Amino acid sequence: MRSTMMDYPLVLPSILKRAKDAHPHKEIVTKWHDNSIQRYTYGEFYKRTIRLMNALRKAGVKPEEAIATFCLNHSAHLELYFAIPSIRAVLHTINVRLFPEQLVYIINEAKDKFIFVDKSLAPALEKNLDQIKGVQKFIIIDDKENMPFPNLPNSISYEDFLATGDETEHFEPIDEFEAACICYTSGTTGNPKGVVYSHRSTYLHSMSVCMGDALALCEKETVLPVVPMFHVNSWGIPFASVMTGCKLVFPGKHLLGAGLAELLESEGVTLTAGVPTVWNVLYQHLKKTKYNLKLHTMVVGGSAAPKGLIEGFEKDFGISILHAWGMTETSPVGTVSRPRSFMNDWKDEERYAYRAKQGVAMAGVEIRAVDDDGKDVPKDGHTPGELLVRGPWITGSYRSGVSPESFTPDGWFRTGDVVVLDQYGYMQITDRKKDLIKTRGEWISSVDMENLVMADPDVLEAAVVGRKDPVRDEAPVVFVVPVEGKSVDPKKILERLKEHFAHWQLPKLDDIRSVPSVPKTSVGKFDKKILRKQLEE
Ligand code: ADP
Repeated sequence: MRSTMMDYPLVLPSILKRAKDAHPHKEIVTKWHDNSIQRYTYGEFYKRTIRLMNALRKAGVKPEEAIATFCLNHSAHLELYFAIPSIRAVLHTINVRLFPEQLVYIINEAKDKFIFVDKSLAPALEKNLDQIKGVQKFIIIDDKENMPFPNLPNSISYEDFLATGDETEHFEPIDEFEAACICYTSGTTGNPKGVVYSHRSTYLHSMSVCMGDALALCEKETVLPVVPMFHVNSWGIPFASVMTGCKLVFPGKHLLGAGLAELLESEGVTLTAGVPTVWNVLYQHLKKTKYNLKLHTMVVGGSAAPKGLIEGFEKDFGISILHAWGMTETSPVGTVSRPRSFMNDWKDEERYAYRAKQGVAMAGVEIRAVDDDGKDVPKDGHTPGELLVRGPWITGSYRSGVSPESFTPDGWFRTGDVVVLDQYGYMQITDRKKDLIKTRGEWISSVDMENLVMADPDVLEAAVVGRKDPVRDEAPVVFVVPVEGKSVDPKKILERLKEHFAHWQLPKLDDIRSVPSVPKTSVGKFDKKILRKQLEE
């Protein structure tokens, strides 16, 4: 029997229109690059987005064409997030920290027609202009004075471009399976791969992110996404926030230490999100300088949130870290580690161990862990397997096609993450397949070792990679960054490791190396490829 329900598509203009109807007076705040604060309402945001849609149409943008952004987190970027998909074009958010070859590669592969760019970021495009093909117009976001922009052809300021569109509201029908956005993987192995989100997948992801057991976004929160809008759509937070009408605060380039802490305080931010390195720096800063913060939740993902950091924020500042896992291929939120009610009376030690896990699959997403033969491993909390995932916001292929190594024959996405699952459905990552260290035929989890080293209060960051060893195949090398003003004693670290690792797994004393910083990828994760290369050299 067919249902009697309406055939009503799940599309992004519905979220935009509701912003005007349900919460037109709520605020969107941006701290711009020159430190000025811009404040406007969702009602004004709606009008400007309508103008932008009409300006894009007038400039000849057609459905399916990719329009790129090369921007940090600010209100104009939010307008682009909604205007581009609402005229059936495809929003391509470019990671501003990509290496030149990758930058050129993705602009050409996506066939970007226009690029909207922050003035301060324009040099990265200018330098590679001779290799960028087919871009017809550059729209400069935060500059009106220097037009036309000296080194980018066919440039126009964002405000002048916006002024070419009028306020006539026109929404054409959209099929919910049409492309809304395209994001590229950060290309830690090979060229970046394009993942194309539909209106439907983005809509469903937004609703799920808002669920109480997920990120629990809602109208009463004040949300500041630190995670860049060029990194997997800022984990879907901009779309979900507009859906709820929460007050949104965009930090522009003010992403670290004092700059971030001041904005969190002055705007009364209650919920924020970003990768662990950002929170490490903030934690050190908050220990030195006192702020009056309303912050209650910090969503942490992208890399493992160390247990020490979770404990530190909660005990010292009463702020909860909500650990989440995801990938570009999963829109990105796939699991969230919110403690369950029956854990309330557990001992601290046990509760923190659970909070440090990557968590339970979001409603709508299915996860499994399988061995090398594709058989499910037991959910016993210690047998590792590769994480497989499927669901309405998980990609079924790449823009360039289906790569057989990324999908099982029956259509599950292979994440490349090695995990354990437990009786309560919690998933914990023990490593990425390519980062595991093989010693005398046995595997060592680099993540476990890193977490243990980072539990030392004098350690700011630690990254572990394997080096070739004639006897052990591979031996772990620990790169340690001490907290400012502290030093690292390799003997102390080795003693700590001895408590949890077998003697054959331990690094040699001189393989515990103090370094001023760990190289990071374009999205702020430890760049183990560079560390391995340094070791080879
Ligand atoms: P890339 O795969 O190029 O690094 P993504 O940003 O899509 O780009 O990264 C996805 C990967 O990041 C996951 O497969 C996983 O290894 C890692 N990751 C994401 N969230 C977490 C987390 N909470 N803990 C540990 N690793 C994580």
